[in-house]
Order: sequence, then C-alpha cells, then structure tokens
Amino acid sequence: MNSKFICPSCGAEYSTEEPVWRCNCGSYLDLFFKPKFEKKLLSNEKTLWRYSQVLPVDKRFAVTFDEGYTPLISSDFWGINVLCKLDFMFPTGSFKDRGAALLIAKCKELGITEIVEDSSGNSACSISAYCARAGIKANIYMPAGNSTGKAVQAKAYGSTIHLVQGNREDCANAALEGAKKSYYAAHAWNPYFLQGTKTVIYETVEQLGWDVPDYIFVPVGSGTLLLGIYLGLRELISLSIIDKMPKLIAVQSEKCSPLKDYVEGKKGCNSISDKSIAEGIAIHKPVRLTQIVNAVTESKGDFVTVDDSTIIVALKESAHQGIFIEPTSAAAIAALKQYAGKISPPSKVLVILTGSGLKTTATIEKLL
Ligand SMILES: *Cc1c(COP(=O)(O)O)cnc(C)c1O
Ligand SMILES: [Zn+2]
Repeated sequence: MNSKFICPSCGAEYSTEEPVWRCNCGSYLDLFFKPKFEKKLLSNEKTLWRYSQVLPVDKRFAVTFDEGYTPLISSDFWGINVLCKLDFMFPTGSFKDRGAALLIAKCKELGITEIVEDSSGNSACSISAYCARAGIKANIYMPAGNSTGKAVQAKAYGSTIHLVQGNREDCANAALEGAKKSYYAAHAWNPYFLQGTKTVIYETVEQLGWDVPDYIFVPVGSGTLLLGIYLGLRELISLSIIDKMPKLIAVQSEKCSPLKDYVEGKKGCNSISDKSIAEGIAIHKPVRLTQIVNAVTESKGDFVTVDDSTIIVALKESAHQGIFIEPTSAAAIAALKQYAGKISPPSKVLVILTGSGLKTTATIEKLL
C-alpha cells in the first residue's frame, strides 16, 4: 500500500510499516495516501469493507463483524427535514467501531499483540471488542466517574481497565505512561482511526445515489468523526464523485466548547466540576483542535454549542420518534434547533446519530 505518515507540524515522514503513533516533535501524524476508487469495482457486501478500495490496510488483516452500511432514514426535527445516519447501529453501539475496525486491522498487520487506549467510554468499548476479536490484549485508561455502563462493556470484552482520578488530560497522561510498554492505539491520535470513520460519508453519499448533503451536523469531542467525514469528502471531491463540500456543523456542549473558544480567541474551559450530560464530547483539549477548526472553516460551516436542557429535550424527542440515542448523540439534534426556520428544502441536512441510548440507561432513567 502506497502510504506514509507525515507530521503536519515539522514535515517529518515515517513508514507506515513501523508502529509509530506520533512524531518525534510531539505532534500527531497524518496519513498520506491517495486512494483510487471505481464504482464498478464495488462488491455486493453491505459492510464498510465494501469501500476497501479506499482503505489503506490489507483486507486480509480485516478484523470485522460485517459492520457498517448503517441505515439512512428521513425524519423531522423542529420543522427541518433531516436525514439521520443511524451510526448507533454498530456491534458495540457507537460509530467508533468504524475507526476501531481500521485501527485494529492495522495493528494486526503490524503484528502488534498489546495496546493502550484512553477513552471516556465508547472508543474503549470499540477498541476492546475489536481487540477481543483480533486476539490483542487491550489496556484501557478511563476517567473514574464516567458512565459505568461503558466501563462494564469494555471490561466484559476482556480488556484491562485502569480507572484514573482527575480529568481527561490526567487520563491521557496515565495512558501515555502505560503506552511506553506497548502500542498506543489511541483514537484521538492515530490516523488509521480516521480512515475508518471516513466510511460514514462514503456510505451516505452512495445511499443518496452518489449525492451529497448540504449540511452535516456532527457532535465533536476529539474530532475523529468530523475529521473522518472531512477526509472522506475531500477524497470524494478529488475522485470527482461529488462536486461540493457540505457545511460541517461542529456541535459541542456549552460547558465544554474548546473549538468555539479557540475561534473566538477565548482561553477555554477546564472546569470539571460542572460536567455536561454529553460526556462523550467533553474533551477539553482535542489533540487535533486546529485541524478540526480548519476543516469546519474551509467548509464554511459553523461551531454550535448546546446546553444540557436542550440536549434532554432533543433526546426525548428522538426517543418519541423511536430513536433511542445517548445524550452525547442527542447534542446534534439539539443543535439543529438553532437552525429551525433557517434551513429549508431543497437543502439536505444530515445528522450522524453516534451512540445508542442503551449505553446510558441509568442517566436517561433520571430524565424521564
Ligand atoms: C466519541 C463520541 C462522539 C464524538 O466523537 P469524537 O471523535 O470524539 O469527536 C460523539 N458521540 C458519541 C456517542 C461518541 O461516543
Ligand atoms: Zn513533527
């Protein structure tokens, strides 16, 4: 596979046949890879691996549950016609399986037998499940006090759970220490994770008859979903399959909005005392912050913040439509509310529904 790692900060290059996950200068790495794609070479399989033409891992190493090709359904929220991509319909209940599928396949290709990940929950579940299937030992670092359901799930898959007191940063630091002895398969750092999350937009574009929406609402924490979508859109444009970049709407909680703070030149949040109900996007310092900001800005998109009470209304409204999602995921529906009356047909709006409500029944019980 003709690919290499490039450091966006200092320009250093690394071979993708080595288990590197960050540049010597400390920056994250990007993957340079020019995909080829022909519609007529698409197989009949209805999984994310149907796009293996554009996936930079050897398919022989695929670690898979035949996941992906999630439903795209039409719905109505706040008077806006919305296309909902049901990405909570994955083996572990969140879209992070897309990223884990590619990242763990790459680990397999590299012959890695033990990994470290740090996560607030869903990526821990995804990495754990794929490691279980791949026979790789997983060490998961988690902030103590997040949704216990997710910790239980990750543990059930056989991962070793390291609970860390403090915030996400303390957790990341503990994981880095642990990673000195194995491979840091961190979703926020590793570019192979983005190669997996980009499949959501290939699927959507194909499901729309090779058309593209005008707006895409995405809840953003570390930005792996948003950046995967951006990467996929860039590829689809350069492959001449689509001809425009949709507006990317990055959704964060009012209580933790480092993207908006950065754009507005504010110092940013770091309080952990007043935690948002949208725990999955409460990332105070996203590793790829400037990359996310650049992607949203280039798409002429927007940074939207939502408060907990609107998230709760959005969660209930979704559930009353038969869509049971977790609060983090409902943040995107809540953000749509700010666009009520501002978007009308023929504009197409896509919302990625990222995580299942079954992950957080204890939290949701208190809201009903
Ligand atoms: C992780 C997560 C997000 C945010 O994804 P990032 O890649 O961290 O930006 C959104 N929703 C759910 C349910 C998640 O688990
Ligand atoms: Zn560098």
